[in-house]
Amino acid sequence: MKTHYDVIIVGGGIIGSAAAYYLTQTKHKKVLLLERNTLNSGTTSQAASLLIHSRPNQVLADMVQETFTSITKLQHDLDDTLGYNPVGCLHIGVSEQAKADVKQAADVAENFGVEVEHLDRKAALNKSPWLQLPADAAISFIPEDGYIDSYLLASAYVRQARIQGLIIQQGVTVNEILTDGQGQATGVQCDNEQTIYADKVVLAGGPWCSLLAAKLGSNLPVAPVRSQYWITQPHPDFSPLSPLTLLPDAKAYTRPEVGGLLFGLRDEQGVHASPADLPNDIHGFSFGSDNGWESLMAGFEPLAKFIPKLNDLSIDHYIGGVSSYTPDGRYIIGELPSVKGVFVATGCCGAGIAMSSGFGRLVAELVNEKPTFTRIDTFNPARFPEADPFNPIFREQCANARSRKK
Ligand SMILES: Cc1cc2nc3c(=O)[nH]c(=O)nc-3n(C[C@H](O)[C@H](O)[C@H](O)COP(=O)(O)OP(=O)(O)OC[C@H]3O[C@@H](n4cnc5c(N)ncnc54)[C@H](O)[C@@H]3O)c2cc1C
Repeated sequence: MKTHYDVIIVGGGIIGSAAAYYLTQTKHKKVLLLERNTLNSGTTSQAASLLIHSRPNQVLADMVQETFTSITKLQHDLDDTLGYNPVGCLHIGVSEQAKADVKQAADVAENFGVEVEHLDRKAALNKSPWLQLPADAAISFIPEDGYIDSYLLASAYVRQARIQGLIIQQGVTVNEILTDGQGQATGVQCDNEQTIYADKVVLAGGPWCSLLAAKLGSNLPVAPVRSQYWITQPHPDFSPLSPLTLLPDAKAYTRPEVGGLLFGLRDEQGVHASPADLPNDIHGFSFGSDNGWESLMAGFEPLAKFIPKLNDLSIDHYIGGVSSYTPDGRYIIGELPSVKGVFVATGCCGAGIAMSSGFGRLVAELVNEKPTFTRIDTFNPARFPEADPFNPIFREQCANARSRKK
């Protein structure tokens, strides 16, 4: 007997889960989600999960707003907080360049109708007394920003999608996306000898997407690039209600976490890996032997100038995770050039949690051949004809997009 679905989603991370949430909103659609491990145990479980409104253009502002809207709706529909903490975000600049960046980000946010408070040093220290700031720092505060538990948000998409009719199979690896030999998708071949049919397949396999796309003759313009953060031992100075901080002078961000402080530092020189070298289970994967120590040594002093308490604390946790970066820092959302009916959604460039509903809604609109709620031309999967994620020179370009990120 042939098993046939309207849409098969490959990959049960937050992007596949959000796509499922939107796709099952169309009545009578049979949607199947396939995940080789357990749901949301891939890179989604590694995220710091900052949710920040301020975005440099209308498309990204639309996409992040979609996530905030879904969070409110899912909290209501599922009667669950989803671990969302709307603590606000302090954006702080000290050098002339960083002051200009802070001002520009505040202007952009205000242009998109986001509430921004311009604070002096005293007001900022009232919120986060552990900061050390010069009197002339430029400081803006966005009260509606916050952070969420990425696992709970991703699970909420799936929980609601199941209510809407989603079928899920976990522990099933898709070995190949099948075609009819004339460039049209027909289904997937799985490792358990299953062949499942659908003429629409959503490829949402995170940093592993390139492996299945390459089998179809498409090289995706994306590479696995290291993102990392550290968590200090608990300390009473760090209130769980402390706002997020963005510190462009230190190339760092912080947020409260389990009684301590979580801080992320951007690698001066991006570190990348071949998609072919990623294990199926991402936990324990390391990009190199240094386990983030070089980045910590290089970035610690500039950060400790803002947070002197760090000098007294031990580090309890280090997460060196995998993000999917494109050379231009733009996402990949669209139909594969080589096969009709395969829609790819990846290349989140470190923003897949914040942008998850934007991704999910766009994928559903493309699959359903509906007009998209925001422009997608910049996300075209075919925009780098020479892309080759298996080539270290190309991957270097992707890694540079991360080290240049503001
Ligand atoms: C350290 C770190 C910090 C981050 N901080 C933030 C942040 O503050 N804010 C933010 O918005 N984003 C952040 N991110 C980025 C965010 O985690 C990602 O953008 C997001 O999780 C990507 O989700 P995904 O669904 O594409 O991938 P994943 O969660 O990796 O899901 C892909 C899934 O597909 C499955 N899969 C792959 N191939 C197959 C196959 N052949 N068959 C079946 N299943 C398959 C995998 O098992 C996996 O579960 C951070 C990332 C890292 C590493």
